[in-house]
Parts: sequence; C-alpha cells; structure tokens
Amino acid sequence: MQDKIWLSSPHMGENEFSYVKQAFDTNWIAPLGPNVDGFEQDLATFLGHNTHVAALSSGTAALHLALIILGVQARDEVICQSMTFSASANPIAYQGATPVFVDSEPHTWNMSPEFLEEAIQDRISKGKKPKAIIVVHLYGMPAEMDRIMAIADRYAIPVIEDAAEALGSTYKGQPLGTFGAMSILSFNGNKIITTSGGGALVSANEEWIRKARFLATQARDNAPHYQHSHIGYNYRMSNICAGIGRGQMDVLPLRVQQRRDNYEFYLKAFAGVAAVQVLQEPTIDFYSNRWLSTILVDDAQEPGVSREDIRLALEKVNIESRPLWKPMHLQPVFAHAPYYGDGTSEKLFDKGLCLPSGSNLTATDLERVVDHINACFRSIPA
Ligand SMILES: *Cc1c(COP(=O)(O)O)cnc(C)c1O
Repeated sequence: MQDKIWLSSPHMGENEFSYVKQAFDTNWIAPLGPNVDGFEQDLATFLGHNTHVAALSSGTAALHLALIILGVQARDEVICQSMTFSASANPIAYQGATPVFVDSEPHTWNMSPEFLEEAIQDRISKGKKPKAIIVVHLYGMPAEMDRIMAIADRYAIPVIEDAAEALGSTYKGQPLGTFGAMSILSFNGNKIITTSGGGALVSANEEWIRKARFLATQARDNAPHYQHSHIGYNYRMSNICAGIGRGQMDVLPLRVQQRRDNYEFYLKAFAGVAAVQVLQEPTIDFYSNRWLSTILVDDAQEPGVSREDIRLALEKVNIESRPLWKPMHLQPVFAHAPYYGDGTSEKLFDKGLCLPSGSNLTATDLERVVDHINACFRSIPA
C-alpha cells in the first residue's frame, strides 16, 4: 500500500519548537503567558482594522463566547448558514437558543443573501427577531459580505463571521474576520495553521474581547479569594499551544500560497474533464486561502461517474477525500429547526468532494490524486 495522502494535515515551520521550548525554559506551562499574549498580538497585527483578539481553547468555544457576549439566551433565535460544520451551530444550542438555517448560493457556496432576508422578515413576522447572524466562509471562500452586511445593518442584527476555515482570505482586499461585529478562528489540527487545538475570538470592540478573556478564565472577580458574579468557562488557550501558533504565524502567508498552488494544479488538471467542476472565485473581489480544494462531480455527464465512485476509488488507494459538509437542516439533531432555502446546499452535498489540500503535499502526491480520479473516468465504458 502506498503512503497515505491526507485531506489536510499539520505542517510545522521552523520556529514553532523554539517558542514551545521557551515556554518550558521559563516554566510558563499554563493557560496564560508570553506566548498567549504574543500570539494574540500576531493575529491582531495580521488582521489589522483595529482588531483585538482573545486566544481560546477552540473555535467552538470562541463562538460560544460570542453568543454569550451578544446576549443570546434560551428561546432566542440565531440565524446560521446551513451548509457548514456542526461547530457553527452547536453553540446556539448550548445557549438553549434555536438555530434558523439559511441555504447557500451557488457562486461561493456560502449564505444566500436572498434567503437571509426572507428568513429575517419571516421570523420578525412570527414575533421573533433573530439575535445574531452566523455567516461562514466555507473552505476559505469569502461569503458575499457586502450584501450580507447591508441586510444585517438594515435590520440591526449583529453578524458573527465563522472564519474558522478562512484565515488569510480577503474580500475586496480586507481580511475575513474583520467584517462582523465579532468573528471566530480555529487552529484545530486540520486548519490552515494549527496549535494542535485552539481558536480565537476577534473583534474591533476591545471591551468585548476583555469580557471574553474574563469569561474564559472562570469569570473571576477582582478579589483575593475566588469571587464570582457570572457563570464562567475554562476556555483559555495554553501557553504551549500559543507557542505553536506563534511559529505558525511566521509561515501563514506561505501556507496560503502553497494551498492556492494546490488549487491551481487541480484547476489545470481538470480543465478538460467536463464532469468535474472546480469552485472558482466569482470575481476579483473574492480571494480564498483555498484551505480545501473542492470539486463538483456531475454524474449526468458521460460516462456517469459519481462523487461516491471517486471517493471510494481514492479510499482504495489510501487517499483521503471527503464529501462537502452535510447541511445542518438535514442533520437529525437539527431536524426541527426552521430552514429557508431552495435546496442549493443539498445539491452541493450530493455532488461535492473535498480533495487532498495540505500545504505539505508534494507534486508527486498531487499527480497521484489526479491520476486516480482520471482513471475513474476511463474505467467505466461510455
Ligand atoms: C473547524 C471549524 C469550527 C470549529 O473549530 P474548533 O477549533 O475545531 O472548535 C467551526 N466552524 C467551522 C466552519 C470549522 O471548520
């Protein structure tokens, strides 16, 4: 069996280990310390736009704190993109609130502005104005931010950007993660940069970020004994993990370039394959970090190869690929949540496949992936 080719595996640079060693040498083995401060500063500098950053234990924790800070409570409603990873929606349930799912549009695969507005109007007419909108930049592709922000502003509903997959992407030249009232990042092991596990809450509102740090460290009031006036959480990032993050920030621009190069390779390789469509940036305004390269497979085209045919063929030769995120409104756990859309995300889920996209893939790896996909089209007689 040939070596495994992963969908997206960790890729360390040269400096991560020295930041971690510094933490050991100075005994900062805790959920605070110079690496945590440094990593927050590195992220704020990278994003610009007066952002402040709280480094946390995960992207999911960051989203949970964002909802708490925006005052989301039991029986509230929060609008969320349906096509996403479950971690975008779970924190809504942590608060006892109800997610209202909105379908995707076909150009970015992200939240449809039309269905967003329809959902807001319908929820308001039913007597419940949504408390927040969670928009996701799937696979690094920016959502239609101008239109989404305009709608959110018109109804005065705060936007939370789930930029877990989109660090390094921009919309009209502005980094994703700087458009919403708040945004979240993830440094899980499969993301474009990783701290093994971790996340961050980002906002231009410094007071909110201070509050996030407070809530993330058990909400301890200022007193010599342990005194609490709020329910707290243990959501801070460790100084060890933050050391990895500081090293990864040194190579982030390179990682974006490497992932974009993977995408270019696939784009060229499938240019002559009518049944395979590669997701392109809709206009020059959209700049994706290409966290994952994704394709749609049209099995109505001769010779009738499906997404699953390709996924299983790759699995047989030790190559990992994965269907696109299954929309949340189709998940058993969210079966009773309201949904607004026309089935676009369901169609994407049926036809879509994420291809190996790590920044550490070699040219040989990429050729192996493409050869096996092309073989699928040759092995079935027309
Ligand atoms: C990874 C991911 C998250 C969650 O981040 P964790 O750090 O794993 O908790 C949230 N949303 C999306 C879209 C993600 O891909």
